[in-house]
Amino acid sequence: MEQYEIDYIKSNLQSYLETKGIRTDKFFTCINPEHSDQHPSMKYFDDYKIHCFGCGATYDLFGAIAAIEHLDRKEAFKKAIDYYERRTLTPDTIIKQKTVKNEQKPAKNYEKAYKYWQNALKDNFEAQEYLLSRGIDLATANRFGLGFNSFYFEKTNTRLNAITIPLSKNCFSARNINPNEEMRYYKTKDSDVDIFNKQAMTNKQPICAITEGEFDCLSFETLNVNCVGLGSANNVNLFIESEKDKNKTFIIALDNDEAGQKWAQKLKEYFKENKIKFAEFDNCGYKDPNEALVKDKSAFSKSIFSLIKKLEKQNNAEM
Ligand SMILES: [Zn+2]
Repeated sequence: MEQYEIDYIKSNLQSYLETKGIRTDKFFTCINPEHSDQHPSMKYFDDYKIHCFGCGATYDLFGAIAAIEHLDRKEAFKKAIDYYERRTLTPDTIIKQKTVKNEQKPAKNYEKAYKYWQNALKDNFEAQEYLLSRGIDLATANRFGLGFNSFYFEKTNTRLNAITIPLSKNCFSARNINPNEEMRYYKTKDSDVDIFNKQAMTNKQPICAITEGEFDCLSFETLNVNCVGLGSANNVNLFIESEKDKNKTFIIALDNDEAGQKWAQKLKEYFKENKIKFAEFDNCGYKDPNEALVKDKSAFSKSIFSLIKKLEKQNNAEM
């Protein structure tokens, strides 16, 4: 391993501490197991080190992992590599990669990272609160492998504390848990597998809702309504090209805005041409299914289940 790679791994100290629930913007309780720190005496320094003014301990990332997870330095080093070896988690490096032509690199595999981020979510109360504020319960979050990570973007020197949403093993999206910050959303671009919960198109469920955003999709799934999330309305084409069970009834629940309605029209034409059954859902008059869930869960739930019941009746009558 090259020195720059080791330096890169070490630069994750702050985000590591944050995933352990330690706030690095002020003094925090010393992590040295030998020191029972009465007042927060430890501080984070920008050279990717932490220092305790009580006992004098100084740690880099490897030392911090060793102290917190009770490992020796060699084990901690291995763990750090496990957590952070993928230096490709910033858009900069991904863009760089894209521009390198004539060089076929395999798509990144984020499965290890997903596991780590999932664990980080379990420790992060603020991230859990965010999910609950969006109407998504933790069981649903867990079912879809949602996680938490603090991303650092070197070039812009910005940090994104985000809910991570795996789309496939090669592709994920991340949603800022502080919606007031400028950078709200981020998505890996190194794979074309963009549809969230794609299996909903081919599984045994008789009905499949279609939404734009991942959180809209999760809003239906939280009620156990089978659903796929396109990621963006532009992915309607991707939906059309993807394998699907043509005996299903699809429920179009795109956003109530100009773009959403334009793409809904395209979906309707496609369904008609291919003799696939479909219905439309009006999101109870709200902008999108997630807003409907958050503003009035009982109306949202009543409305979607009465539509499903109606569709089932129609289907039974046809048989
Ligand atoms: Zn100390």
